[in-house]
Amino acid sequence: MEHPENNDKYKGLAVNAGIEQPSLVNPYLKKRKRIKRTELSVSDYVEGIAKGNITILSRAVTLIESVLPEHQSLAQEVIEKCLPYSGNSMRIGISGVPGAGKSTSIDVFGTHVLEKGGKLAVLAIDPSSERSKGSILGDKTRMETLSVHPDSFIRPSPSAGSLGGVARKTRETIILCEAAGFDKIFVETVGVGQSETAVHSMVDFFLLIQLAGTGDELQGIKRGIMEMADGIVINKADGSNIEKAKLAANHFKNALHLFPTPDSGWEPKVLTYSGFYGLGIKEIWDMIYEYFDFVKSNGYFEYRRNEQAKYWMYETINEHLRDSFYNNDTIKSMLAEKENDVLSGKLTSFIAAKDLLDRYYKESFGR
Ligand code: GDP
Repeated sequence: MEHPENNDKYKGLAVNAGIEQPSLVNPYLKKRKRIKRTELSVSDYVEGIAKGNITILSRAVTLIESVLPEHQSLAQEVIEKCLPYSGNSMRIGISGVPGAGKSTSIDVFGTHVLEKGGKLAVLAIDPSSERSKGSILGDKTRMETLSVHPDSFIRPSPSAGSLGGVARKTRETIILCEAAGFDKIFVETVGVGQSETAVHSMVDFFLLIQLAGTGDELQGIKRGIMEMADGIVINKADGSNIEKAKLAANHFKNALHLFPTPDSGWEPKVLTYSGFYGLGIKEIWDMIYEYFDFVKSNGYFEYRRNEQAKYWMYETINEHLRDSFYNNDTIKSMLAEKENDVLSGKLTSFIAAKDLLDRYYKESFGR
């Protein structure tokens, strides 16, 4: 319809068609081809990993971390094929409270050992990531030199699932890294207790980073964690802190004397160093090499790895059984009610558990 303002009466006020608005989406974007990730087969993964292809290794680790069942089964096949090429590395656990200097130290420890050649993978187990859904451990930005080193591979902690699940994924990642030719593996964790046990169950050497404090260093460190350590290193032994660090080292040495000698026969050593200034790093590596020589010659190295393999078999069974139980729809729908019955005293914990388990067996196995 003719617009009334276009009537001759209103000449000069003609309404013109507006300017055509450009589309909101950048039209050039449409033309750009979307790069589709090609699906890789099991042998693509295995061959890529065997050649040390980092992109393929990363993608395989992503499969391990995926919760999709089809990714999981593909990942398991890849792991199985890589298994014969794994095992040839020094697996070293590194733990310390936040601020102890883990990332600074891993950066210098790693750079130091890579000077001799070889390849280093830095992995992590972060129990807090379960809640925060993100992990800072193993974060590349925290390791400035290693993150750009051509022979290092840094991977943050898997974030999904229980600590056991996260730890299993890291252990499986170790296998792939070894098959890809990484001969040194660091597994970083934060010093809070349970995660140390998980790391201890997958490494050959457990290094505990400590700080000199006000004389009560030993407080707050769980005895269990100290007992796991094959080496305790006191960081930040620089400037006015050197004497305090030495004092702390003596405290730790004395405390370690109170523990029985570990099964390995190796007396854990205590050293001081400065990650920031790169002091005392060689001595730490000398200790680590000495340990490996020691346990390889007395057979403990093999023994520990076998024990760990056994442990992981049972851990995996436990994890699967737990998941299968708690993911069962009927169980899910019954749990809250049974929990209330227990809280209100209507049922004992044991009866409630038995009811749930019976129901689960019936659902799963028809009995
Ligand atoms: P993380 O939380 O255990 O990973 O600890 P960081 O490596 O991030 O270090 C925490 C803080 O301590 C940073 O500000 C570092 O610069 C500092 N730091 C680390 N190592 C040393 C050291 O050897 N000497 C001194 N003086 N400071 C250090």
